[in-house]
Amino acid sequence: MAIVTSKEMFAKAYNGGYAIGAFNVNNMEIIQGITEAAIEEKAPLILQVSSGARKYAKHVYLMKLIEAAIEDAEQTAGFDLPIVVHLDHGDSFELCKSCIDGGFSSVMIDKSGLPIEENIKITKQVVEYAHDHGVVVEAELGTLAGVEDEVKVKAEDSSYTRPEDVQHFVEATGCDSLAIAIGTSHGAYKFTAAQCTRNEKGILVPPPLRFDILDEVSKRLPGFPIVLHGSSSVPQEYVKMINDNGGKMPDAVGIPEEQLRQAARGAVCKINIDSDLRLAMTGTIRQYFNEHPDHFDPRQYLKPARANIKELVKHKLVDVLGCAGKAQ
Ligand SMILES: [Zn+2]
Repeated sequence: MAIVTSKEMFAKAYNGGYAIGAFNVNNMEIIQGITEAAIEEKAPLILQVSSGARKYAKHVYLMKLIEAAIEDAEQTAGFDLPIVVHLDHGDSFELCKSCIDGGFSSVMIDKSGLPIEENIKITKQVVEYAHDHGVVVEAELGTLAGVEDEVKVKAEDSSYTRPEDVQHFVEATGCDSLAIAIGTSHGAYKFTAAQCTRNEKGILVPPPLRFDILDEVSKRLPGFPIVLHGSSSVPQEYVKMINDNGGKMPDAVGIPEEQLRQAARGAVCKINIDSDLRLAMTGTIRQYFNEHPDHFDPRQYLKPARANIKELVKHKLVDVLGCAGKAQ
């Protein structure tokens, strides 16, 4: 199977009450860990690339690695793994065009920081070019707090999506899916300690997602796929592994998985996960270095890092997204 768009995936996810995982990729080990998990769980998959990842690894390397993953799935598993290759947070028409011309099947244009009419104008321009080339477009309304690569928004500059804007925006732009802000946030420090409460173990508990906004948006856009960004859960076992092995990540906190599962049952068809993979990889490597100070072969520490990324992704596909078995 070649690279596909998310059109059919989202229609099935919407009707089936699950979401597709969109995992950020930067290198071979991350791509292998994610795709091996998706193959074993027979789960449809979105691999997404930020402009920072494209600068780090180069477009051509990432495309060839993803093509290799698809070929490997066919050859070793005898299984057609549907993969969407998506641009995460495209910030200009030119960047989106470059990814469309370079073989991506999906792009995000994120002009959520602009007034809505300017957001509409640029999004519409991207949609026209993308649809002419058989590519789908994700747009965004509302602004998430946090840091992700080149997207940095302070908590006081973030804003929830206004449900009264969504119909006009989707009709005017023709976009295929919409990212909304209901309280998720980019990065491993999604909330300050002041925004949270603490449980009996002293671990931070973040404020709940605004399901009232999600419900209102879904009512106004029946059948339309909604996207959640910034949806890592920041597994505390990996935060601990990092901190126990020379790292310093105090009070890192994410979105509870049961809230993501609830969102996936409704109109949310795509859930973005990046920080959790970074934490798994970094924690594993830190621990490895600590336990084997004499080792210096990168394969020795990248192998367990890749294996833990795979385990983490399998857990997300099965227990959080609900999309295991849905690629058949
Ligand atoms: Zn994002």
